[in-house]
Amino acid sequence: MPNQPVIVIGAGVIGLTVANKLLQSTCYDVTIVAGHIPDTIFSASMRSPKWASPWAGAHWRASSSSKDKLLQQMEIQTYNEMLDLAVNEPESGISTATGVDLYENLTEKPWYSTMVKDALNIPTKELPPGVSHGLQYTTLLINVPQYLVYLRTKFTNAGGKIVCRALRSISEALDVTGANSERLPVIVNCTGLGSKYLSDVADKAMYPIRGQTVLVHAPDAKRTITRIGAAFGYTIPRGDGSVILGGTAEKNSWETEPDSDTTTTILQRALTLEPALLPGDASAWSTKSMNERVAALEKSIISVNVGFRPMRDGGVRLETESFRDPSSGKQFNVVHCYGHAGYGYQSSLAFAQRVCELVDEAT
Ligand SMILES: Cc1cc2nc3c(=O)[nH]c(=O)nc-3n(C[C@H](O)[C@H](O)[C@H](O)COP(=O)(O)OP(=O)(O)OC[C@H]3O[C@@H](n4cnc5c(N)ncnc54)[C@H](O)[C@@H]3O)c2cc1C
Repeated sequence: MPNQPVIVIGAGVIGLTVANKLLQSTCYDVTIVAGHIPDTIFSASMRSPKWASPWAGAHWRASSSSKDKLLQQMEIQTYNEMLDLAVNEPESGISTATGVDLYENLTEKPWYSTMVKDALNIPTKELPPGVSHGLQYTTLLINVPQYLVYLRTKFTNAGGKIVCRALRSISEALDVTGANSERLPVIVNCTGLGSKYLSDVADKAMYPIRGQTVLVHAPDAKRTITRIGAAFGYTIPRGDGSVILGGTAEKNSWETEPDSDTTTTILQRALTLEPALLPGDASAWSTKSMNERVAALEKSIISVNVGFRPMRDGGVRLETESFRDPSSGKQFNVVHCYGHAGYGYQSSLAFAQRVCELVDEAT
């Protein structure tokens, strides 16, 4: 009996992670079908609302509220798995660093403070103006371009196949891989915002949260620092001398071009958070005006980026749905896993495991 075919639609961090986990079972032949596939070069011409993953920070900073137990589980499980990856597979582009979360107004104790490594509350006298609470802990840096290529390479090296094609519907994936009608594949839908447009999904709960970021060369900045509140901003080193500075979170904006005023605001806020973004002696820079410091940091800009977080009202859609092949009339199962908003990396490994369990049940 041949293996059960599985088609994963999507090659963002979710599709690639799911496809790799599925291949760890010897029961499945796995093919990825996607409109965008990670390559070694990521350029502005590749910006697309249908592909968030190359434009993420990314680091691990819990997004779930104290009430959202499912997402908490996904985030902390992925945290622990990524700690292992950082130690055992550094070629993945995942590494550890000190993470600092600065809260302007803390409404509840961050649930993860008792679960992450090396957590400590920052003494009030060391907090910057306007910040009421600070938490420091060991976080994970994800060098996004490197991690995506690592996942793609790992998948193809293990025998996985990739087809580059944009689909109009989920059912169209059956034609792409020439799936034989004797044994229809299980399809896993990891299309992020694409699920809004697939004709047989058409999920109206999906919308973008636009994020503009600036990638700079700043090898002295080693910590990830996030300020949560009105002066939202973050600095995320990628472990290779480059640092992502953010950023915006604009609901329902589809604008693919960066805004220059926003770039300046991002640089100003980042410099307030992390003086080490500028080279040399920090005390010498502290005597300079903000305009002078921004001008100096502008010289280190590698790129200004725009990405679209795949947001879904109601949270991630993780469930199995029965479909009918329009040409043969036969039924097949679709496991949906999309809508990871701003936490796709930091929850990816745990969501992928749940998808594998649903695929096992569906076959
Ligand atoms: C500025 C910014 C910062 C972020 N920072 C972080 C962070 O620090 N930590 C974190 O965890 N997350 C972060 N995120 C969120 C993270 O990037 C997303 O949650 C994640 O990338 C979503 O991955 P995905 O695989 O679901 O979707 P995507 O990456 O969007 O991939 C979708 C895939 O589906 C394919 N597809 C779509 N439609 C079709 C179709 N019709 N036919 C064929 N293929 C199709 C696409 O081609 C693509 O391959 C950030 C995002 C942004 C924008």
